[in-house]
Amino acid sequence: MKQIAVYGKGGIGKSTVSANLCAAVAELGLKAWYVGCDPKSDGSMTLMGGKSIPTFLEQKKSGLNEVVFEGYRGIHCVEVGGPLAGVGCAGRGILVAMQELSKNYLKDDDDFLLYDVPGDVVCGGFASPIREGFADEVYIVTSGEYLSLYAANNIARGLSNLDVKLGGIICNSRETENEKDTVSTFASMIHSKMIGYIPRHSSVRECENHGMTVIEGAPESSQAEAYRKLRDAILSNDSAAVPVPVTPDEIRCMLRGIN
Ligand code: ADP
Ligand code: SF4
Ligand code: MG
Repeated sequence: MKQIAVYGKGGIGKSTVSANLCAAVAELGLKAWYVGCDPKSDGSMTLMGGKSIPTFLEQKKSGLNEVVFEGYRGIHCVEVGGPLAGVGCAGRGILVAMQELSKNYLKDDDDFLLYDVPGDVVCGGFASPIREGFADEVYIVTSGEYLSLYAANNIARGLSNLDVKLGGIICNSRETENEKDTVSTFASMIHSKMIGYIPRHSSVRECENHGMTVIEGAPESSQAEAYRKLRDAILSNDSAAVPVPVTPDEIRCMLRGIN
């Protein structure tokens, strides 16, 4: 089974990319898991027809064992959930959920599992999928904007400290100037590669408003094709490597040079 974790700045499009990736994997007839680790618990909504599912932590607290919910094309969806704001460590919940999933729920014939992880910084808690060896490789979502690249670089620093492999950088476009060049240059600066480019398109929000991924809601669209191309690149990726972070100055200098 391929197990990946998706990181990136808040609001950059991690959950949208993650849900569409899982949907595109399921489209191939493969068995896919989506594990949402954001305490907001909103990432699985487009796989569940717009409904939010009870979280792992809520269910366990109530003594209920139903923590996995079947979504689009049989995708297994889990939302870890989180403690109340300011109380407890969200990362601790992720670890408990992962341990239980791997012990009691994952099967030998499962093909793909994706952790959708929040946070600009890989803190001890949110690093658990990678630190504990539950994910084989990480993908970072970014646009060509400075703050998004800055966050991506911080995540790369966290991965480098933990000696964890980065599978590549996913560019989720914000339509900034020379964005593809910018993101692929940044990727090579940190010794990685841009593994996919997702255009910015209104269909993403339109489908989201219907509680669907683009793969489900607009399967013939070029936007759906972009997610499928990313899926193929990730499924066949065999060149993950520990990244080498740069300094914020080096990012700014690169941006001035390109734009
Ligand atoms: P994150 O999980 O990183 O916080 P989300 O996936 O929730 O971010 O995305 C934030 C918003 O951006 C969502 O409402 C989503 O509809 C929108 N969005 C994400 N990717 C795209 C895209 N490629 N084109 C248009 N809108 C997008
Ligand atoms: Fe929050 Fe991360 Fe600290 Fe846990 S380790 S309390 S998730 S910042
Ligand atoms: Mg999200």
